Amino acid sequence: MTDLVLVGGGHSHAIALRMWGMNPLRNVRLTLISDVTYTPYSGMLPGYVAGFYGYDETHIDLRRLAYFAGADFLREKVFDLNLENKIILCGDRPPVRFDYLSLDIGSTPSVTNIPGARQYAIPAKPVPKFLTAWQKILDEASENPSQKQDIIIVGGGAGGTELAFNIHHALTQKLTSPNLLSLHLVHRGSALISGNENPWVSQKTEKLLLQRGVKIHLNEEVTEVFKSGLQCQSGLRLTGKVIWVTQASPAHWLEKSAIETDAKGFVVVDETLRSPSHPFVFATGDIASMRNHPRPKAGVFAVRQGKPLFQNWRRTFTGEALIDYNPQKRYLALIGTGDQQAIASWWKLGWRSRWLWHWKDKIDRKFMDQFADLPEMKPMVAATATEPAPKMYCAGCGAKVGKNILAAALSDLETSNTEGVVVGLDQPDDAAVIQVPKDQLLVQTVDYFPSLINDPYLLGQIVTQHCLSDLYTMGAMPHSVLVLASIPHGEARVQQGLLQQMLAGVTKVLRAENIALIGGHTNEADKLGLGLTCNGFIQKDDIWRKGEVQAGQALILTKPLGTGTLFAAEMQRVAKGKWLDGAIAAMVQSNRKAAEILRKYGATACTDITGFGLAGHLLEMLQPSGLSAELYLDQLPMLHGAVETIKQGFTSSLAPQNHTAEQFIQADMSLRENPKYELLFDPQTSGGLLASIAPEKITACLADLRQVGYDASIEIGTIKTAQTSSPQLIISTS
Ligand SMILES: Cc1cc2nc3c(=O)[nH]c(=O)nc-3n(C[C@H](O)[C@H](O)[C@H](O)COP(=O)(O)OP(=O)(O)OC[C@H]3O[C@@H](n4cnc5c(N)ncnc54)[C@H](O)[C@@H]3O)c2cc1C
Repeated sequence: MTDLVLVGGGHSHAIALRMWGMNPLRNVRLTLISDVTYTPYSGMLPGYVAGFYGYDETHIDLRRLAYFAGADFLREKVFDLNLENKIILCGDRPPVRFDYLSLDIGSTPSVTNIPGARQYAIPAKPVPKFLTAWQKILDEASENPSQKQDIIIVGGGAGGTELAFNIHHALTQKLTSPNLLSLHLVHRGSALISGNENPWVSQKTEKLLLQRGVKIHLNEEVTEVFKSGLQCQSGLRLTGKVIWVTQASPAHWLEKSAIETDAKGFVVVDETLRSPSHPFVFATGDIASMRNHPRPKAGVFAVRQGKPLFQNWRRTFTGEALIDYNPQKRYLALIGTGDQQAIASWWKLGWRSRWLWHWKDKIDRKFMDQFADLPEMKPMVAATATEPAPKMYCAGCGAKVGKNILAAALSDLETSNTEGVVVGLDQPDDAAVIQVPKDQLLVQTVDYFPSLINDPYLLGQIVTQHCLSDLYTMGAMPHSVLVLASIPHGEARVQQGLLQQMLAGVTKVLRAENIALIGGHTNEADKLGLGLTCNGFIQKDDIWRKGEVQAGQALILTKPLGTGTLFAAEMQRVAKGKWLDGAIAAMVQSNRKAAEILRKYGATACTDITGFGLAGHLLEMLQPSGLSAELYLDQLPMLHGAVETIKQGFTSSLAPQNHTAEQFIQADMSLRENPKYELLFDPQTSGGLLASIAPEKITACLADLRQVGYDASIEIGTIKTAQTSSPQLIISTS
């Protein structure tokens, strides 16, 4: 098994991932590390700024694309690279190791030496940050349309000039008069877009901008940026918000890596898109500098490099000769002029028309469609005839993961030094021994499930939160855990990496709660999986039982529902990345503080919503007392996307069994047809707490829950006296 790690979800990686998904290699494991779930498509970005396109039309969903390609998706920002040990540092997780590395991380406008630029200017990249700042400007203009807006764009290359057209369009749409916009374009060169050797295009763009009232300042060198504007060497001083679109600069963390770079710090690559100094590193897009073919930093090259990059990844792993990529010398540049017209620039030729905009629009939409409509996946095929046949694997104790792998994975783990561990991992033995404090009882729970997410570090956090939740709902104080980890068959270094990431996810949660990891067991399996046995302590009188509901109490739910349907949709590759981001954020949230708050407000019964869904777990609460409950369907908190995936028919494989709870449900047909109804049966992973509480305490309790981050907390129903021999769930709208 070879590990190919991709850093950055730029244009080339997006294309190559799509191609990989259609034609993967079984013996190569792909991982995409990206600091964003959605990456912008540069060709449509100016049109998005103008308001011609929406967010989803102009951004590629990298989580979905990575899953389509069978790749792990780590949403992290890389901050260091060690080429000697072949590891990447990102986020707060253990180092990610690789055999081959591919970089497509783009560039950012250079703000290095100019005082105040880093502090006050809004750089055009990273794009998400720029778009947040841009949205603020737009909101200001919408809220105060009669107020003057002063904007200064620094950099009159293709990016800055196109941005000027589109910013002008967007803001003049918002303001009551175009005269309220004061837009400046400051450029160090003597002509706009001077790099493209096409004087007609420079003159045309200048003329069009001047016609729209944009003030162009050529041959100006910015010397200082202030909160309220900037100063140039000539003495020119301008007031306004400063947007920075100057020449590209590379990521600083590459400097220390010893990879060969050009004079500006961009990674040198040869025609095969590999680093001559480190041939196991590929680089494409803005971050790459082709040794024999220097080209401007433009999305068009990043796009073109996607296919040869994919081909050379494959050829590297199948042992074939790599192919050369020779970028074209001349390329067609299409610059939108903010009025649904475009200027075409090709070598010395130039042309402007409305038709060109429509043509560009068609090309851009076609490009984006390929990521929205991902093709059906083919079953994986063997890469080469020489690939070894699948091995027979031992069962019983022979299925244990090797001792060295376990020792290496455990060696760097940061664990808690919890009191009461008599024999733990620091002096391992055949079993762990813990001291149960005097006058306290031992509370135990166990849970296990196969991986639902392509990131072992996140899986570790989610499973740990899920398992600990049972202790919180009993009112117990967690003390220690034992881990059961299943690692897919494979090479030792791959298994070690997986185990390290997964256990680091577990211990991240444990450290935050001062809980000890005291032992465990690892075995080889077909699929990654994780489970925990959790120990907690409790005073006898403090035991919280889920069945102690009282008539008249209100029901509170602390987290939104929908993980079951969303991950069922993910398995069919139709869940949007942002929906899964929302589900992950909910699943890694601890239930500990929620339990404390519910207890403080006198909740008499509490449970967590997991596999049996809301209906199943609520019925478990009602059964001991025989009471019933009314549930307000409209109030049910839902994860983003859950209603969409339910409507599309995606439900968990456990949902049909959960529907057996329907025999206890009273609901009109119209309510049963409401998509939220199906959410009653949706199994949750690391779901929220459901508690019964006196109605007069609801307002204060919900305020406290929301204050500490349980934003979706809400009253969802009330406990009622049963009118029948068995508890009923009476569904109403609100
Ligand atoms: C305002 C503006 C307008 C432009 N308009 C056009 C245009 O119309 N046409 C055109 O061809 N070019 C345009 N360009 C240039 C174009 O944006 C770039 O050339 C192009 O985006 C480069 O693509 P890429 O694949 O190299 O990287 P990018 O598209 O920048 O993608 C890099 C990805 O890597 C991620 N990343 C970065 N650092 C890290 C890290 N440390 N860890 C993890 N992930 C990371 C980023 O979030 C991003 O998703 C424009 C540039 C600007 C500034």
